[in-house]
Amino acid sequence: MLIRIFTYFLTFTTICQAVPPNIIEKAEQSNCGYESCHPIKEGFINVHLVPHTHDDVGWLKTVDQYYYGSNSRIQMAGVQYILDSVLDELRKDPDRRFIYVETSYLWKWWKQQHDIVKHQFKKYILNGQLEIIGGGWSMNDEATTHYQSIIDQFTWGLRRLNDTFGKCGRPKVGWQIDPFGHSREMASIFSQLGFDGLLLGRIDYQDKSLRFSTKTPEMIWQGSDNLNASEIFTSVMFNTYSPPPGFCFDILCSDDPIIDDKKSPDYNVDKRIAQFLEYVKNMTKVYATNNVIVTMGEDFNYQDAHTWFKNIDKLILYTNKLQDTGSKYNLLYSTPSCYLKAVYEEARKDNISFPVKTDDFFPYASDPHAYWTGYFTSKPTIKRYERLGNNFLQVCKQLYALTDLGPEDWADLNAMREAMGVMQHHDAITGTEKEHVAHDYARLLSAGFDECRFTTATALSKIVTKKQKSTKLLNRDPAPAIPFSTCLLANISQCEYTENSNSFIVTVYNPLSRPVNHYVRLPVVEQHYKVSDPNGKDLPIQMVPIPDSIKKIPGRQSNAMYEIIFLASDLPPLGFKSYYVMKSSGSNLNTQSEGDVNIEIDQNTGLISKVTMNGKTIPLEQNFFYYRGTVGNNARPENRSSGAYIFRPNGTDIYKISWKSSYQIFKGDLVSEVHQTFNDWVSQIIRIYNGENFVEFDWVVGPIPTGESGKEVISLYTTNLKSESTFYTDSNGRELLKRVRNFRPTWKLSLTEPISSNYYPVTSKILIRDPNQDVEVAVLTDRAQGGSSLNDGEIELMIHRNCLHDDGFGVDEPLYEKAFNAGLVARGSHYLVVGPYLNNTGAKTLAAQERDLAQRKLLAAWTFLSPTNGLSFAEYKAKYAMEYSGLTKSLPDNVQILTLEPWYGMNFLLRLEHVLERNEDPNLSKPVTVNLKGLFTPFQIVSLRETTLGANEWLNENSRLKFKAGQKLETMVRSNETLRNDPLWYDGYRKWIRSQHESNDINLRRQNSNTIFKQQENFASNDEFSVTLDPMQIRTFIIDIQKNYEKYVLWE
Ligand SMILES: [Zn+2]
Repeated sequence: MLIRIFTYFLTFTTICQAVPPNIIEKAEQSNCGYESCHPIKEGFINVHLVPHTHDDVGWLKTVDQYYYGSNSRIQMAGVQYILDSVLDELRKDPDRRFIYVETSYLWKWWKQQHDIVKHQFKKYILNGQLEIIGGGWSMNDEATTHYQSIIDQFTWGLRRLNDTFGKCGRPKVGWQIDPFGHSREMASIFSQLGFDGLLLGRIDYQDKSLRFSTKTPEMIWQGSDNLNASEIFTSVMFNTYSPPPGFCFDILCSDDPIIDDKKSPDYNVDKRIAQFLEYVKNMTKVYATNNVIVTMGEDFNYQDAHTWFKNIDKLILYTNKLQDTGSKYNLLYSTPSCYLKAVYEEARKDNISFPVKTDDFFPYASDPHAYWTGYFTSKPTIKRYERLGNNFLQVCKQLYALTDLGPEDWADLNAMREAMGVMQHHDAITGTEKEHVAHDYARLLSAGFDECRFTTATALSKIVTKKQKSTKLLNRDPAPAIPFSTCLLANISQCEYTENSNSFIVTVYNPLSRPVNHYVRLPVVEQHYKVSDPNGKDLPIQMVPIPDSIKKIPGRQSNAMYEIIFLASDLPPLGFKSYYVMKSSGSNLNTQSEGDVNIEIDQNTGLISKVTMNGKTIPLEQNFFYYRGTVGNNARPENRSSGAYIFRPNGTDIYKISWKSSYQIFKGDLVSEVHQTFNDWVSQIIRIYNGENFVEFDWVVGPIPTGESGKEVISLYTTNLKSESTFYTDSNGRELLKRVRNFRPTWKLSLTEPISSNYYPVTSKILIRDPNQDVEVAVLTDRAQGGSSLNDGEIELMIHRNCLHDDGFGVDEPLYEKAFNAGLVARGSHYLVVGPYLNNTGAKTLAAQERDLAQRKLLAAWTFLSPTNGLSFAEYKAKYAMEYSGLTKSLPDNVQILTLEPWYGMNFLLRLEHVLERNEDPNLSKPVTVNLKGLFTPFQIVSLRETTLGANEWLNENSRLKFKAGQKLETMVRSNETLRNDPLWYDGYRKWIRSQHESNDINLRRQNSNTIFKQQENFASNDEFSVTLDPMQIRTFIIDIQKNYEKYVLWE
């Protein structure tokens, strides 16, 4: 319908192999993994001592400061010394073990080592003394991260390990010991990575205490409502990741060493061992098996590894000696995977099953007044910058793969891959780092953008100049390369390029696998322009004035007074269209509008009062409020401050920023806008685009004035929906989870913080429903935020915050970001969707519409700008391609190419995902089959082989330990009589247990009852290029490609 590209293929037959090379290595001569575990002793309590270090990829110091050990006034931490020192200590005794986790540091160290050291390191990996655990580029946060970026950061970490160490470098255990709460999607991702288990450090203190008293800290966690095998054995550790109190033997600690000279007055072996065994005894009371894990390490420990290992040696020696006199404790050097294997074997032997968990671990509270829900929003501009980074990285990878950039182009994806890996760290995107560190993260990400700007420009230039080369239409001179730039400051309506040129080319690239329409907005100085599409057709445009509140954003240097808006329609999948824009003297070309979405503005208040969409009209008000953050000294839980981690409002009141806004309305044919000003630091533009089924709320907040308390600003949407204490939030941008106010499915919540204990991470979407009215109201976000529904009919999202005090969890800085000598201004968008969800009237259900919108915002069409170099439209078009698609056909609406990137030589990494849950749409939720043959324009897939999600193991070679699943946790809890008789808990339970997606289930039952759950086999075809995806399934392939030689290309 839209791809007017006809390529004729000749193939180079000699370049490619028919079968992918065995790039996923077999093990070398090795004894790693489970085979290298020290034997455990039957009939004993086996205590698995795991020496480890927790190395934050930036927090109080920058990544480089931590790596090199500089800036020690802040913290005595130098990662390079840790790896040096551990290596020396492992050499002394083959019994010793060590694990390493954060691969971004590992490679920083690796590239500085002599070959001999590398060889030694590899030796310890191969003999199992050193084990890589986790293996992502960083230990990612789980609340504010998006699944696409989590998968990317694991893929890159695991890839480097595979390249360097082969099978022995392949982690089998997730090690999420410090993130502040845990998402269900992460469990699903670990399961799809082919891991055997997951170890957690932080869960809610009430949850933890119940689990410890009922021997259920170990569980089978079901990571998905949709996937068949998404479960993973998960264990919550006894003391987060710290050693037993009194047993930190690091130079950073002050605990006594083990003194074993009996003549010394300080001899302490007996006392110390008794202390240690007392601790272990307490542990054995809470775990299901006779194997327990004791973490021997802390943040940045082992810079002088000798002190640790020497004392652990003695601890093991003297404790095990007691076995001669009947002790039943057996200490051993171990790793998380050896511990896991021991638990697995004991459970299998003794037929032990583990309870099943189906919800997530949010929000996390560490005490009654410390709810870690502030970081869902903290540092909102870093959170947006990261999301934009993902958008550009995917564009960059795709263009790299489609144009086959080689070494001659000097293009490099790694800077952006690695910067994005760092950004996922649990003190980066979370906003829980010191401010100077946040600036360093922005610097790293910006360097990644620079590399990708170069890569995309090179790729686009290759594509557009090909026309000249292939058609030989005009003269023999090749068309000169064209620069492509991108205006990152367009978010403050500033772009040097468009402001200072009389004419320019706008190239809009669509990274989605289906065609999209995209409204382009560019800041300009003048009022009259002409925009021509690739066919030379003049497009309707609209000029909208830039509001004063935007013009005065600190740091903005721009003369732009207007934004020019035009519709880039039918953008080809993985492709682009170019538009020729020039100033004109005449009037702008307009068109007729057609609107299905309408809003009403209350003339007295200037606030939105009503919305009509998808055939439903409901009263809806939106306004800005703030909470006053508690200011305390953190000495006791009741004195906890609100801060970077913690959201703790001072009471339950919210404060209106203004009861009314002054406003102006700009109606046009492409877009209608209401420009609202609430006060001198809060303003907003409400937008309705012609042909789009959502209302955009483009908010601008800051500088937040300081007062007697911090202000934590929310945007509150109030409707008349009877939502019955229930709302829904997404898990890392993927599956939807149900939330019930003041309720937890697996324990009775003691309500100490009524506001913040009801806050949940919103990575991309929050919604409420009213079954009687058959209305759903959803708000989609452009970055992660904290959100809730504290009263029926309401949705609130925290969009910006400042806090006067630190909250006592280490950052030691109040959260008050500055930019350009003023408090930070944040700008962002919410997208409101309203409609029926029970009786679907349109082609797509509301859920499917929301999926489509979320994708178009996550992987938005990317705008590039180029000069016209004095060429007229006709001259430009004669020389350069103005339209291109990387796909020969668009994929169905429910399938997206999640990943297309260069991998090894002539291999690419290709991931396909089904983007709907199984009960979201009667048609689009069906399994879908895609044939990859001839799918890509510039290359053919010669062969493909499926891997695990991380692309580091062939799927058919992956086998996982299968733990025996018992009852569901919520069912176990419900059978507890006290809870069942507790009306509040039981009411919550009733609401929570109601079918998670009642609405769409009805649709499904009506239209499609038996096809939806058919097994994949039914759809499988013999054609190896046919790929079938079940709802929410992601499939990863390494594809072997063969380039198409483009004999000639017709562009129309
Ligand atoms: Zn940490």
